Amino acid sequence: MAEIEILDLEEGSGETGEISNRCLVGKVLHSKSLSATVITNILAAAWKTRAPFNAVCWNNNIFLFQFEDIEDKATILLDGPWSVMNSLLILKPLVEGLVVSSMDFSKCPIWVQIHGLPVEKMNRSNAITIGRRFGKLLAVEGSAGGLLLYRSFLRVRVEIDVNKALPKGFWLRRKKESDEDLWISYRYEKLPDFCYACGRVGHDNRGCKFVPRNEGMNSGYGPDLRTGRAKKLEILIEEMPHFEDAAGGVDSNEGGGGGGCDALLHSVGLDDARVNEAVVERVSLANPEIKNPTTGAVRTPHRTSPIGVLPVPGVGES
Ligand SMILES: [Zn+2]
Repeated sequence: MAEIEILDLEEGSGETGEISNRCLVGKVLHSKSLSATVITNILAAAWKTRAPFNAVCWNNNIFLFQFEDIEDKATILLDGPWSVMNSLLILKPLVEGLVVSSMDFSKCPIWVQIHGLPVEKMNRSNAITIGRRFGKLLAVEGSAGGLLLYRSFLRVRVEIDVNKALPKGFWLRRKKESDEDLWISYRYEKLPDFCYACGRVGHDNRGCKFVPRNEGMNSGYGPDLRTGRAKKLEILIEEMPHFEDAAGGVDSNEGGGGGGCDALLHSVGLDDARVNEAVVERVSLANPEIKNPTTGAVRTPHRTSPIGVLPVPGVGES
């Protein structure tokens, strides 16, 4: 039997860092193979970089982008997501040790708008509580104290998993028994085409393998889940770099059984102090049919078992 060699290979001695600083790797979730020329033309128009960039096709709609200006790269990452021919482009930094064939292109950062909250609930703590339902909360728009009334909605940057259905929103329980639950809806900024049958990004209804065509009609997904980039305002954006570690195992869409989609978030804070001790749990409803106050649609929330106590981030982590 022939022996299999073990080799030590040279590294780029300093070049690696220099090159990787200027590069991004991206995958376009498109059904057909696209050429580097097509990609370059489309993205040059969208990105409007200060200096030229170069795109090389590695394989299967995976491209290496090399930028002359390092700030172009940073701006592009911050302003994402981007799309090519209405298909999502998932960008990743080029890091040492990376093996192209094992790169994970399933996660994509995106700004999500949270619409329909009563004004007294529009604060940072609630933005964090809701943002956590997506699995990974990256940033919250707004300062730490008081109500966030710069806009009529809250705004969080989260990581979505393209292999899972996009969360549509949740029912907010009102304080008074007599008040009907409120439908709080999500809108994803710069979201490209997605499947209205199953709610996943990367294919459309015709190519859906998750939901039979006749059932997909009643999924509740539609174009209102998409929106353009919110107008730029002079508002602090608070990044949440340590969030994932602090939250531990419960900070994932798995725990939320669909990432907050159709979840009834209960105790979505009354004020900061209250939220700090809040217990967020999923509950079954006595009345299975609830009318959506916006659309008037009557729907049946999914019955699920309680997921127990989720610690609220930023506090009580001792
Ligand atoms: Zn689908």
